[in-house]
Amino acid sequence: MSHCQPIEDLRAALVKLNLEQAQLLHCDLENLIEQLQALKPQHQPTVVKAHRVVQQVRHIEGVTYQLERVKCGKEGCKCTDAPTHGPYWYAYWRVNDRQKTRYIGKRFKTVNILEQTKPQFSPASTYKLPLKVVKQATEELVSTLY
Ligand SMILES: [Zn+2]
Repeated sequence: MSHCQPIEDLRAALVKLNLEQAQLLHCDLENLIEQLQALKPQHQPTVVKAHRVVQQVRHIEGVTYQLERVKCGKEGCKCTDAPTHGPYWYAYWRVNDRQKTRYIGKRFKTVNILEQTKPQFSPASTYKLPLKVVKQATEELVSTLY
């Protein structure tokens, strides 16, 4: 006996219905579906903001270094219950009232904030080059490496 036996029984009964009965049942079934859907827990993605636990703080030459454990908050991550990423060192400093952050890593090292404040490279748009050209050039460069 299959677990869908009640459904099979219902189906067998359905073929005996006349049009009016079938329409009535259709209506009942729609109401039932609506009720069941309302009962079903809505899937809500858990968007938790990244949560940090500071374990150590150092101040060196205007830069605050913090050793942090991080809870990224991404659904399905091992860190759901507790901040389990890291601990990693992060550098924080201010430039013209704007907070700058830089990930350092597991091993502590100082960052040169003067180097950090100027852009490492200019984005392609600065050179007014179409993205396609930049992509092609990058691919060509990469292909010469192999
Ligand atoms: Zn995580």
